[in-house]
Amino acid sequence: MGERIYDVGIIGGGIVGLATAMALVKTGVRSVAVLEAEGRLAAHQTGNNSGVIHSGLYYKPGSLKARNCVAGREALYRFCREQGIAHQACGKLVVATKPGEIAALDELEKKGAANGLKKLRRLGAAELKEFEPHVAGIAGLWVGETGIVDYRQVCEKYSEIIHAGGGEIRLNFQVRRVKKESRELILSDRNDDVRCRNLVNCAGLQSDRVARMCGVKPGLQIIPFRGEYYELVPGRHDLVRNLIYPVPDPRFPFLGVHFTRMIAGGVEAGPNAVLAFKRHGYTKTSFSLRDTAQFALYPGFWAMGLKFWKMGLGEFYRSFSKKAFVRALQRLVPEIQAGDLVPGGAGVRAQALEANGFLVDDFRIREAERMVHVLNAPSPAATASISIGESIAALALKNFSLSPKGIAPDPGPLKPLSANKES
Ligand SMILES: Cc1cc2nc3c(=O)[nH]c(=O)nc-3n(C[C@H](O)[C@H](O)[C@H](O)COP(=O)(O)OP(=O)(O)OC[C@H]3O[C@@H](n4cnc5c(N)ncnc54)[C@H](O)[C@@H]3O)c2cc1C
Repeated sequence: MGERIYDVGIIGGGIVGLATAMALVKTGVRSVAVLEAEGRLAAHQTGNNSGVIHSGLYYKPGSLKARNCVAGREALYRFCREQGIAHQACGKLVVATKPGEIAALDELEKKGAANGLKKLRRLGAAELKEFEPHVAGIAGLWVGETGIVDYRQVCEKYSEIIHAGGGEIRLNFQVRRVKKESRELILSDRNDDVRCRNLVNCAGLQSDRVARMCGVKPGLQIIPFRGEYYELVPGRHDLVRNLIYPVPDPRFPFLGVHFTRMIAGGVEAGPNAVLAFKRHGYTKTSFSLRDTAQFALYPGFWAMGLKFWKMGLGEFYRSFSKKAFVRALQRLVPEIQAGDLVPGGAGVRAQALEANGFLVDDFRIREAERMVHVLNAPSPAATASISIGESIAALALKNFSLSPKGIAPDPGPLKPLSANKES
């Protein structure tokens, strides 16, 4: 990338970094470089997720999650239609299996309505079967706005648009050091540097480390939780038509194994959420001393452990016992048996945790001089990516003094824009 100085360097080629770059080039800021550590885009959370286009049902009305999910969902459906990306607004069924879950189901229905969902339908026990013939429950909620897509394909399209708009994407570039000079930031991997005037940190599971590398205190630490999936064997796909979810426990909304039909075919069951000993570790034996020591030395981890140890042990048990995993699924679809399931893939979630043990639920973005740090972008960030990307781009335009044609004229010793175009 030579001596070129980019207006914006974006660290992370997951869906949030790519959506941000896409939004910037669409506003005319072409001098953008996305730096991705891996040899391919969407290599971590984005490429290993459940592929669900979330409706916005779960989120606190008015929260960043709720607003961006609702706006982002519609934007994503439009994008998929326009770009010819396979997707389906197939709807999902939330199933209550015991009387104690009815109040939470009522609450979900209210939240969904408050978040503007129009295709909600409350169902009695018999009506559940119209949607999912193999489900057993005492009540349910049909959510018509939910859909499915392959987020890797979405990222491919984002990257085509970035390239077409003049942006660049560099793979195999792991930012290991950020040096601040008076007029530019120098981002270095082992062998090379990239210079930029401003940066956006979209490093997902590494967002806290990248913030610290930039001299910014993130005020939180990322704790990795692995989500493991099983897949239904082909002969049993008929057990699930679309998506079947349990009523979430409001204290741990990301828990609760569910069934998801995938856009490419097949049905996944899962994921669970098991404490992972490596941030980018996808198997039960994955271990990193650095990652483990870092959370073990963090007071927030022990504060969280004290509150949630029981739930954590349950998730570990389900990780090692297929029987326990199947029992959780049988609550929704009683017919399902261990022989109907084969091990599938896994994903690792970035769970942001504050030092007092508070699990950060909403998206968290921190602004610093010449920088924007996306510190927490959990689910539904893939659904919401277009909306989040546009919001970050708007922040960047404001904070970085960028004008839609590139860097705003500056009387100081900045090179003129025409020089920036040369690389
Ligand atoms: C198991 C699971 C299921 C999920 N299901 C859904 C779902 O169905 N629907 C939904 O909307 N959301 C879902 N999510 C959430 C969603 O996938 C994430 O919120 C979203 O992908 C976050 O995107 P990201 O770009 O922030 O992070 P990532 O996709 O993790 O991307 C961050 C990128 O930064 C790169 N990087 C890190 N450090 C550096 C560095 N120093 N230099 C260069 N590059 C670096 C990484 O290699 C990575 O590619 C799920 C998540 C998980 C884990």
